[in-house]
Amino acid sequence: MSHEAQQSHEDPANKYPKPPFPKKPQEVPGTESAMDPQADHGEQSYRGKGRLIGKAAIITGGDSGIGKAVAIAFAREGADVLISYLDDVEDRDAEDTIKYIEEAGRKGVQVKGDISSEKHCQKIIETAVKEFGKIDILVNNAAYQMSRDTLQDIPAWEWEKTFAVNIHSMFYLCKAAEPHMPPGSSIINTTSVNAYEPNPTLLPYAATKAAIQNFTANLSQILLEQGKGIRVNAVAPGPIWTPLIPSTIPDHEHFGENTPFERPGQPVEVAPAYVFLASEEANYISGATLPVTGGRITI
Ligand code: NAD
Ligand code: MG
Repeated sequence: MSHEAQQSHEDPANKYPKPPFPKKPQEVPGTESAMDPQADHGEQSYRGKGRLIGKAAIITGGDSGIGKAVAIAFAREGADVLISYLDDVEDRDAEDTIKYIEEAGRKGVQVKGDISSEKHCQKIIETAVKEFGKIDILVNNAAYQMSRDTLQDIPAWEWEKTFAVNIHSMFYLCKAAEPHMPPGSSIINTTSVNAYEPNPTLLPYAATKAAIQNFTANLSQILLEQGKGIRVNAVAPGPIWTPLIPSTIPDHEHFGENTPFERPGQPVEVAPAYVFLASEEANYISGATLPVTGGRITI
């Protein structure tokens, strides 16, 4: 997409593919190459405006989906970026993200492993400090979900795993990162429209996303009242076309139809919210959640 096209008067509802999509289920965690249609992470379209020059960022789940689009945007805004991701099958996605970070002239670092372990979270932070000397932006974005039709279908291990990956990791990462974050830093947590309107097939996931909202608001109070100068905010995406979807939602052919736009968002459409919250333009914003939902209401 050209710069001119970005400024066009096109109806946003028609800007990206609409369902129905082909049924192409994937195994968790899913990969970008098996997505049909392919997702847009701003590879061709995102243009930085120097909003994050000299910053050092960590993005969990930065290999694919929303995290990948945020990584590309941050790098083009001038930030060095460490991406964390889970699995060997995502190596190609991670390497592709690193390629875009480096093409933007920034340093890209990848760390693979399970963030439900506090030790691994500490390793992520130590690696960032070793590579960058500081942490200005921490994006807690990785998550697990699985669709289940009934309460009885949810194994206890999956309940516990969902909380461990989605919310315990935020505590571990924020705690380990805080001593390395100078005033003016920013933490951004990915919640979901599910925090407001829980999907009945995603009971544990939706509960973690509500917990993330409360954690975000409260950590903001703690860090600002203690004079740390670290802002804490959240982004609440609506349905976004990422590997999470074909790997965890059986009827993904119709994904995103439940928005006024009648389509899912693309990762590139979510990334600017993270750029804004990380930048000095959001200097007076903390404890907030920014919805990026294609018009789904979150009041
Ligand atoms: P995605 O699959 O591209 O990204 C999620 C990433 O999390 C994966 O790439 C994986 O590497 C990482 N991950 C999963 N489990 C992990 C673990 N145990 N340890 C380390 N890393 C792990 O999907 P996405 O949709 O871009 O998801 C990013 C965030 O957006 C998540 O928090 C998700 O809940 C949120 N979100 C997504 C949607 C949507 O419709 N796609 C909607 C609302 C919120
Ligand atoms: Mg991935």
